[in-house]
Amino acid sequence: MKILVINCGSSSLKYQLIDSETEKAIAVGLCERIGIDGRLVHTPAGREKLVLEKVLPDHDAAVQAVLSALTDSGHGVIGSLAEIDAVGHRVVHGGERFTKSVVIDDDVLQAIRECNDLAPLHNPANLIGIDACRKLMPGVPMAAVFDTAFHQTMPKKAYTYALPYEYYEKYKIRRYGFHGTSHSYVSRRAAEVAGLDYGNSKIIVCHLGNGASVSAVLNGRSVDTSMGLTPLEGLIMGTRSGDIDPAIIEFISKKEQKSLDDIMTLLNKKSGVYGMSGVSSDFRDLEAAATGGNQHAKDATEVFVYRTAKYIGSYAAAMNGVDAVVFTAGLGENDKVIRERICGYLGYLGVTVDAERNNIRGKEAVITTDDSRVKALVIPTNEELAIARDTAALVSGLQ
Ligand code: ADP
Repeated sequence: MKILVINCGSSSLKYQLIDSETEKAIAVGLCERIGIDGRLVHTPAGREKLVLEKVLPDHDAAVQAVLSALTDSGHGVIGSLAEIDAVGHRVVHGGERFTKSVVIDDDVLQAIRECNDLAPLHNPANLIGIDACRKLMPGVPMAAVFDTAFHQTMPKKAYTYALPYEYYEKYKIRRYGFHGTSHSYVSRRAAEVAGLDYGNSKIIVCHLGNGASVSAVLNGRSVDTSMGLTPLEGLIMGTRSGDIDPAIIEFISKKEQKSLDDIMTLLNKKSGVYGMSGVSSDFRDLEAAATGGNQHAKDATEVFVYRTAKYIGSYAAAMNGVDAVVFTAGLGENDKVIRERICGYLGYLGVTVDAERNNIRGKEAVITTDDSRVKALVIPTNEELAIARDTAALVSGLQ
């Protein structure tokens, strides 16, 4: 089956056409600056990347541009749209309603709309992408794959905030967690690579990208994760603060005469390692600055490493042990120094990194010594493949 995977944001749309039998991408691409001017970067597998300046006034135009690129006689990869068997959409928030991926119908769309309040920046954009695809590919089955679904197995003790209960009842304020597709894919794959029985294992996944989260996966089910009602909670990220004392919001607001909106922007866009260092949200820049003697850059990475190590410790406690700690996403896959520094805090758990094994980028590997009591691994995430797998499975069930 050929599955088109769509990840639609407010001004961008990422896509991959994946062959579900070979599990390889046939083409990948990205529409940027939708509603501003427009640009399509399209890469057919094994061929040169193509940058097309396109007028993309809205998401319908972006989806149309993607379909044209896929079927183009020059840089296309399929003869006609009839070759696309199904579309898998990434949807950020599925609330409590969606515990797994589903085939999209009118009821599902309504339920996703009802979660808009919980993810006002993301869900409306995801819905626009779904609408545009339904319009331009009528009759093609579509699936929604939720970032929150994998974490719906969290027990109440892990998802409940210590707030008046009425706010959970009225507004469903609780912890949901995100990056679920990644945590699910990576934990399952880590069990295979480490030779563990997934249904009887304790795995901690560190998804360390620009957005970052940790999860505790017990016997193949997420039992805790660091992001909460929104992706702001938990680890320190590129530009997000992660956990802070909530009273800081009032404090800054009064001292600096800032509105709530300003402070939310500050916590989401101007904090994290970017805010602490004043240098960059990208660890490559931070490391270059630190090497050049920038103390703020050095401190920012240490605070990041320390917070991550503390979460790993708390999830080992939550599961009463751990078999494997897994690193994924941009930083987790590529940065051996950060991995080594995080593992440096985990000696008490029995994690012993092998420097040579850890000297890798972007490929699957066990990075601990043979006698390390707990294994650490690198497993590159592949959310698009996970979305394609779920979509193919759901669509096959329809036939
Ligand atoms: P997103 O959350 O946007 O999907 P990614 O998973 O792509 O983020 O991760 C992006 C981050 O990964 C970058 O900001 C950078 O900090 C880090 N990163 C990517 N490549 C490298 C590398 N080679 N060395 C160190 N850090 C890297």
